Amino acid sequence: MSTLFEPDVYEALQPNIDKVLRGQNNITEVVLSPFNGAKRYAQLSFINKPLFDGVEGFILVISDVTERKVSELKLLEDKDNIDITLRSIGDGVIATDLEGKVTFINPVAEHITGYLDDSAAGLEIETVMQLRDAFTQETVVNPVRLAIKENRVVEMPLDTTMQTKQGELLYIEDSAAPITNKEGALVGAILVFHDVSQQKAASQRMVKLATEDSLTELPNRVLLLDRTQQAISKAKHDNVQCGLVMIDIDGFESINNNLGFLVGDKLLKIIAQRLSHFINDNETLCRSSGDEFVILLSSIPDLHYLSEYCTKILALMEQEWHVDNNDINLTVSIGISIFPDDAVDAYALYRRADTAMRECKRKGKNHFRFFSNEIEARLASSFRDEKRLREAINNDEIAVYFQAKVEGISGNTVGAEALVRWPQADGSMHYPDSFIPLAESSKLIIPLGKQVLTKSCQQLVKWQEIDKNMSISVNISAIQFKPSLVETIKQLLNEFAISPASLELEITESVLINDAQAIDTFDQLKALGIKICLDDFGKGFSSLSYIREYPLDVLKIDQSFVRNMFNDKKDLYICKTIIDLANNLDLKLVAEGVETQAHADKLLEMGCTLFQGYFYSKAIPASQISARLS
Ligand code: C2E
Ligand code: CA
Ligand code: CA
Repeated sequence: MSTLFEPDVYEALQPNIDKVLRGQNNITEVVLSPFNGAKRYAQLSFINKPLFDGVEGFILVISDVTERKVSELKLLEDKDNIDITLRSIGDGVIATDLEGKVTFINPVAEHITGYLDDSAAGLEIETVMQLRDAFTQETVVNPVRLAIKENRVVEMPLDTTMQTKQGELLYIEDSAAPITNKEGALVGAILVFHDVSQQKAASQRMVKLATEDSLTELPNRVLLLDRTQQAISKAKHDNVQCGLVMIDIDGFESINNNLGFLVGDKLLKIIAQRLSHFINDNETLCRSSGDEFVILLSSIPDLHYLSEYCTKILALMEQEWHVDNNDINLTVSIGISIFPDDAVDAYALYRRADTAMRECKRKGKNHFRFFSNEIEARLASSFRDEKRLREAINNDEIAVYFQAKVEGISGNTVGAEALVRWPQADGSMHYPDSFIPLAESSKLIIPLGKQVLTKSCQQLVKWQEIDKNMSISVNISAIQFKPSLVETIKQLLNEFAISPASLELEITESVLINDAQAIDTFDQLKALGIKICLDDFGKGFSSLSYIREYPLDVLKIDQSFVRNMFNDKKDLYICKTIIDLANNLDLKLVAEGVETQAHADKLLEMGCTLFQGYFYSKAIPASQISARLS
């Protein structure tokens, strides 16, 4: 037997031989080097088999297992290679099973997640990696889940943050891929990720540097232009005006020259602070260059607002400034440009504000100017109009006309709506549509409305002497609808000893739109016992919710539906629907804009009983209503 094997192999086999001779079968593997060929792997089976009685012996079966052995060794080697690769790679690597439980985590991943010493093994992937969107803070689905669900490679969304076990927040980037076995069956997923927090911070610093003024930390011109462009898009969409207010300090150079630029810099900083406190939430303050600040207004209600706004800035800047024991007085010049009148893109709008500001400097500083002559002229003329209206109110030139409210069946006048008029010196008449908007924007509507209410109450007392059931209704703007209105009405009810139920206020939906104060005012007015009518009903958007929320007394069908009811079936149906609605909810209903007998007949037939319109009477002086009553 020793001749079969090389000596060292034979020696190594000695224990197996001893064993089999003692009666124990056994198996081993050896490497053989036959004379004629390459190295072979052999499996030797020692099987105990006595040769003759009393003579011990065994059978040796030699099988060539080279092929199996080679592929086994190859596998081992592959596994080691993968392990080494995954352990030494610079990225974090985590493998999970189909349930998303961690089956492998490399040292980099342990380091990033904070789950050291294999403590992540067996945990849910969401526990080990808590992913959130950096901006919305919403949980981000781990890509491993998607990779398993959809059996594809999945990239993590940008700006994903991960909270480490120690609570630190990191920006990470990653992707996940499904793992399949040899048969192609899905067995899990592998996730490769890395920490990009530093790059992120660097890029944020760059963005800050590029968009922020380092002295005041306000947005700089680059960011201003960007925000302006956004504001323009939004204004276009919302159909509103937006604009730029450019504020340039008059004679800033001499401040710098006399007091030194360090004082100049400090002054700019506190100017920035004062202006920051001044602006509203939807406005952006920027320092666009040296001594120039720009405010972006994303929505401008009207020119009055703007002129008041700039007047306030002028006053704000005129207050004394204290820097390092220096008392500084300064003035500014302001240029204003408005989208869409002056320009339709950010850069042009900026240039226009600059032009207006320069023009302002040329014309004597410490003032504000609009870019366009047209707007300038419009504002000037509206100032003139405002002055004239104020005088007219103070001189008691405003008149109140009345339009009869008629009961359809009897034809009796049961009430009247007060409609304001402004008679002119030349004998012509100004109608409310031409001056109510101005009265509203200038707040003159408050004294004006008080006059209308007073005159209406005075008139009501006289009419009730003829017919005690006579009532009166007065239109009230949103601006009037404040607690002060409640006081005014209380006084009037007292002064004229009017029964509250004969006074009705007409308001439109816009009065009730999202205003907590309006709800309060509404309740207080109702508590006085007066009636409230929702005017122009059907014209707005969400009338139904107001009906539900507010205890209204009267609905007034908008005149456009009445006027059109024979031309357009839809308008007729709307009339019918509103009539049914009011009747079902026990609300009084008035149809206005009744211009013909046919209108009245049809409305009566549909169930409406109170009418107003040219068919019965236009708005006429009070004396003519008195005549109708008698
Ligand atoms: P409103 O409250 O809807 O008033 C009805 C308007 O329609 C009145 O115009 C009236 O003259 C007109 N009208 C009445 N019947 C007919 C008709 O059959 N056909 C046509 N085509 N028109 C008719 P007016 O007096 O020019 O008032 C316009 C608006 O001005 C009013 O609309 C109201 O919103 C407002 N207004 C009037 N007076 C005052 C007031 O004292 N205070 C406030 N805040 N607003 C007022
Ligand atoms: Ca009205
Ligand atoms: Ca109306």
